Amino acid sequence: MGTFGRLACLSFNGNKIITTGGGGAILTADPELARHARHLVTTAKIPHDWSFIHDEVGYNYRLPNINAALGCAQLESLPSFVERKRRVAARYIEAFDQIKGARVMREPAGARSNYWLNCVLLDRAGGRDEVLAATNARGIMTRPVWTLMHRLPMYSAVQRADLSCAEDIESRLVNVPSSATLEKARA
Ligand SMILES: *Cc1c(COP(=O)(O)O)cnc(C)c1O
Repeated sequence: MGTFGRLACLSFNGNKIITTGGGGAILTADPELARHARHLVTTAKIPHDWSFIHDEVGYNYRLPNINAALGCAQLESLPSFVERKRRVAARYIEAFDQIKGARVMREPAGARSNYWLNCVLLDRAGGRDEVLAATNARGIMTRPVWTLMHRLPMYSAVQRADLSCAEDIESRLVNVPSSATLEKARA
């Protein structure tokens, strides 16, 4: 996990499989990148007995020890959380197997998904809002995918390539409840 590319970023936000309450981690095998990342997230201050010199624009993004301790404890539960997530996904896949017009996104061959969030892809373009309205009216917390960045006001005028594939998927994708505790809740 996290070994693709020179740096990988993990989020430990509250809605993730394991959490530290907020924050995340950067993984890298490159000691120089690790040093620079650590420097940037600790205000880019040059270590010195008394002077406060920052040698580039830095950030106060360090993970506090108390949150890190929470994360260490959460790590011990990670395998069981992932198993529960995978069982929830397996039930969705099974349930939608016989349903026409929709399919559950599943892991590609050769990959092992943590199934953090399950999504249902509808065949029909533009069918999403109908499903969102009907399920939410029945107390099922379905959601659309996150609004594509080029539709957000601050990025509406930036340069973009052809995004018709992303727009098509956005119009057909429904995110479904995926909590690791969902299994227990079933009737
Ligand atoms: C959680 C998540 C983010 C946001 O991470 P934060 O730590 O909440 O800022 C971005 N992209 C994906 C795919 C995520 O799952």
